[in-house]
Amino acid sequence: MNLLIMGPPGAGKGTQAEVLVKELNITHISTGDMFRAAIKEGTEMGKKAKEYMDKGALVPDEVVIGMVKDRLSQPDCKEGFLLDGFPRTVEQAAALDATLQDMGIKLDGVINIEVPLEKLMARLTGRRVCKGCGASYHVIFNPPKEEGKCNTCGGELYQRSDDNEESVGTRLNAYLEKTKPLIDYYEAKGILKNINGDQEISKVLADILAAVK
Ligand SMILES: [Zn+2]
Repeated sequence: MNLLIMGPPGAGKGTQAEVLVKELNITHISTGDMFRAAIKEGTEMGKKAKEYMDKGALVPDEVVIGMVKDRLSQPDCKEGFLLDGFPRTVEQAAALDATLQDMGIKLDGVINIEVPLEKLMARLTGRRVCKGCGASYHVIFNPPKEEGKCNTCGGELYQRSDDNEESVGTRLNAYLEKTKPLIDYYEAKGILKNINGDQEISKVLADILAAVK
């Protein structure tokens, strides 16, 4: 089964991707990991990507597509894959479609994890980090035993500057604006699976499995 997973920051996409690939016995292809691996292995596309990244420039779509193609050609993708972190624009999605068609691969579903904006806000602004050891807490989902204090080292907990409401709001709005056309694109193709991400992790997983099977 060949899938793609999308979701705003704080929607729990990473957690779901991790369990989903085990459950379906498919390969997780996160674009970030793929980049690092291609550069480390020194593949043709990896070298090209590195050139841009060294210059601090954005890696062009054709290079990213080339890397995705290389990755999907590997034997561990034969039984299926879960693409994560790509595509991010309609142009990239169209290029991906063309590539998949060339390779004789069909995309079976696009999982879109949805969580109401105010819930995402609460999830993302509730994060607290320990000044001493870097341990991460959450005021609602994973509170420390003693308020403002790290369980392990007793260090002071603080809110990262980019976790405040304004930064989080900007980040979320940018995501929603950018991905809306992408969601419409897959909706039109009839392969979009909207999943309610505002429930327990196991329930979200069960809904995803029901939607793709
Ligand atoms: Zn600590």
